[in-house]
Amino acid sequence: MRRVIIDTDTAGDDTIALLTALHHFKVEGVTITGGNVDFDQEVENALYTIQVANLEEYVPVYKGYERPIIATGEQQHQTVEDVHGRDGMGGSFFEKAKQRPETGHAIDFIIEKVKANPSEISLLGIAPLTNIAMAIKKDPTIAKDIPHIYIMGGTNNSLGNITAAAEYNFYVDPEAARLVLHSGIPITMVGWDMCTKYSIMDDNDHQEIEQLATSGPEFFIRINRVVKKFNKEVHRLNGTTHPDTLLVAIAANESLMTASTNYYVDIETKGELTRGYNMVDINNRSGKEPNVRVCEAVDRELFKEDLLQVLKSIS
Ligand code: CA
Repeated sequence: MRRVIIDTDTAGDDTIALLTALHHFKVEGVTITGGNVDFDQEVENALYTIQVANLEEYVPVYKGYERPIIATGEQQHQTVEDVHGRDGMGGSFFEKAKQRPETGHAIDFIIEKVKANPSEISLLGIAPLTNIAMAIKKDPTIAKDIPHIYIMGGTNNSLGNITAAAEYNFYVDPEAARLVLHSGIPITMVGWDMCTKYSIMDDNDHQEIEQLATSGPEFFIRINRVVKKFNKEVHRLNGTTHPDTLLVAIAANESLMTASTNYYVDIETKGELTRGYNMVDINNRSGKEPNVRVCEAVDRELFKEDLLQVLKSIS
């Protein structure tokens, strides 16, 4: 089994992505970054999701950075309770999980794990990239020991989701995203545009999932209540979106990704209107070396199959 660390701002689709990672990989640990909702709530959501997965092995959860790299004092980034519900779990307010977070810091865990297992541990980034960037910053020598980072973030020359220009994960911490993209570590990026094209589950899909009638599907339906309504009203999308799950499913089985190209990608960190926008230089006007493999098409049916498989496996 391939080994990964998954970095998440656990709310909404992060939970299903986490279940997908636990299904396909040996997850060495889960690290939490500030993002979607209140930080401590994200930690609880990750712990609860691990409990739902009901595994035999212990999967530790480490707290990382609560706020973006350049946030000063108590300055808060934009959270999105309107997308995922106040608890980030579709307003389910689940009981507290029995497992508690570890005492060490997420970035020390990442550094130690990678150093002890060179070229073994890939990273799955489904949150703002603060923790991963800071781990590289604290110990740049880990870059050569990380075989791959799969990132849900950005867009490829299309509409953002938190602003018209930017996707949420890159928008919250563009400095972190920039640092990671220029780290020299092989990167695959699955953007918001891939999510809206290939990951949407509509009413029929939801019905199909509900009929699986094990506890995995029930969890899926509860988590997705709020986002379904939000997508319809705000993004004019007819169904639930699964960017993080899509990323993890692709990392687990790259044949889900039916087209991809290496491009030069960079992030706008200033921009009056475009902070967090990422440039994908598809015609290589910059003349710069490509640094990111950008996902350009997905086998939607295979993705759905994988999602159902993961949910069905949870009894
Ligand atoms: Ca996320």
